Amino acid sequence: MTIYQNLIAGEWVGSDATKNINPSDTNEVVGLYADGTAEDTKNAIAAAKAAFPAWSRSGIWERHVILKKAGDEIMARKDELGALLAREEGKTLPEAIGETIRASQIFEFFAGEALRLAGEVIPSVRPNIGVEITRDPLGVIGIITPWNFPIAIPAWKIAPALCYGNTIVFKPAELVPACSWAIVDILHRAGLPKGVLNLVMGKGSVVGQAMLDSPDVAGITFTGSTGTGRRVAAASIEHNRKFQLEMGGKNPMVVLDDADLTVAVEAAANSGFFSTGQRCTASSRLIVTEGIHDKFVAALTQKLETLVVDNALKPGTHIGPVVDEKQLKTDTDYIEIGRQEGAKLAFGGELITRETPGFYLQPTLFTEATNQMRISREEIFGPVVSVIRVKDYEEALATANDTPFGLSAGIATTSLKHATHFKRNSEAGMVMVNLPTAGVDFHVPFGGRKGSSYGPREQGKYAAEFYTTVKTAYTLA
Ligand code: NDP
Repeated sequence: MTIYQNLIAGEWVGSDATKNINPSDTNEVVGLYADGTAEDTKNAIAAAKAAFPAWSRSGIWERHVILKKAGDEIMARKDELGALLAREEGKTLPEAIGETIRASQIFEFFAGEALRLAGEVIPSVRPNIGVEITRDPLGVIGIITPWNFPIAIPAWKIAPALCYGNTIVFKPAELVPACSWAIVDILHRAGLPKGVLNLVMGKGSVVGQAMLDSPDVAGITFTGSTGTGRRVAAASIEHNRKFQLEMGGKNPMVVLDDADLTVAVEAAANSGFFSTGQRCTASSRLIVTEGIHDKFVAALTQKLETLVVDNALKPGTHIGPVVDEKQLKTDTDYIEIGRQEGAKLAFGGELITRETPGFYLQPTLFTEATNQMRISREEIFGPVVSVIRVKDYEEALATANDTPFGLSAGIATTSLKHATHFKRNSEAGMVMVNLPTAGVDFHVPFGGRKGSSYGPREQGKYAAEFYTTVKTAYTLA
C-alpha cells in the first residue's frame, strides 16, 4: 500500500505510517499516512522560517492565483474528495460533499481577499508628518486541527494564513489525515514555493507538542478540545506567541410555546443529530417551554424514528457512525451517566449493528433533564441530546446562558420581540433564529465566547485579525 508522506521543505518524506480506518467499515483501510516525529516537525518549522521572507513579500497576484487554483481543483474533485472524507470521518456522503464544497469556497474567498489587501493613510496630529497603518504577516503559523471537519477546518486556517503572507506547519488530527494530505498536495501542485506550506501528520503529543515548544512558531491556530486548547495557551504564553483557540460547546436551542413546531423539530433534529452530533455547534441542550414541551418531544421522537443510521456511503443514510471506538465509549458512558442522574431516556441509547462493522449508535434523546446534570453541562460530542423543561422565555434565556461555553445558541419562536431579545442577550458568539445552531456561512466571522473560544474570530475578513500584525509608520514629508 502507498504511504502518503509528509511534505517538508517541498519534499515528500517519511516511511513510518499509521493506518487510517473507515469508521463505517472497520475492515477497510482508507490509506497509510506518515507518522511524523519531533525531528520532522523541527525540520518543517525551519523550512517554514526560511521560506517566510520571500513569501511575505510575494505579490498578491501570485497568492491569488495559487489560492484560486486550489479552490477550483477542490470544487472539480468534490465528489471524489467528499467520498474520501466520508470514508475517513464517517459523515454521510451528502454532508461530506457539502463540506468539500465549503472548503473550495473558502479558498475562492481568500483568493479574492489577497487582491483586497489594504492599509490606511491618515494625517498626523503633528504638521508635515504622514501616518501609514499596514498589516504585516506574523511569520510561521502552526495549524492544529480536529477530526470532525477534515477538509473545511484545514481550509479555513490554511487559506487566510497564505493569503496574508504567512508560512505554515500544519498538523491534522491523526484520525483523519487523508483530506489534509489531499489539500496540501493540491496547493503544492498549484505552485506554492518550497517550505511555504509544510505538512506533518502524526500524534498530537509528538508533532503538536513540538510545535508548541518551538520559539520559531509565531502564531498557533487551534481547533479541538478544551483540554488541549489550554495546553496551547500555556505554551504560547511561555513563548510570547499569538494564539487562537476554537474549542467545545454545549449549545442551547430554545423552543418557545409560539414556535412553528415543524421548524423547531427540523432545526433540533438537524443540529442535534446530523453529522452524528459531532459538531462543535451541535445543539445538545433543547430548552423547551411548558406549553409546547410534550408536543415537541412527541414530534421530535417521531422524527428520530425516521432517521437511518448506517454506512456513511450508503444512499439514504441520515446519520453515519461515530468516528472511533474511543468517542463511542465517551458517548455510551454519558448515556449511562444520564440514566444515573435521573434523566428519562426517551429515544435510542443503544449500539446497532449494520452490514459493515462500524461504530453505530442510535440517536439518543433524554427528557426531564436539568441544566445541572453532567449531560447538560459537559460536551459529549456525539448524537446525545437532552431536553430541559422551563416555565417561560425568561427562564429559557437564563438556562441557555447558564453554561461554561458560548459558541452557538438558537431560538425557535414566531415572536419578533423574543427573537430580538434573544439575539441581544444570548452569551454565545453565534445566534440562530428558527435555524439549526450548526451550519454557518464561509464569508462571515465564526467563533464563540467564554470557554468556547479565545482570540480573534476565524473566517471572512475578520480572519485578518489573527493572521496579521498591525504596523504604524510615521514619515516626515
Ligand atoms: P483534541 O483536542 O484531542 O485534538 C485536536 C488536535 O490537537 C488534534 O490534531 C490533536 O492531535 C492535537 N493535539 C493533541 N494533543 C496535543 C498536544 N499535546 N499538543 C499539541 N496538539 C495536540 O480534539 P479532537 O480532535 O478530539 O476534537 C474534538 C474536540 O474539538 C471537541 O471537544 C470539539 O468540541 C472540539 N471542536 C471545536 C470546534 C470549534 O470550532 N469550536 C470545531 C471542531 C471541534 P491528535 O490527532 O494526534 O490527537
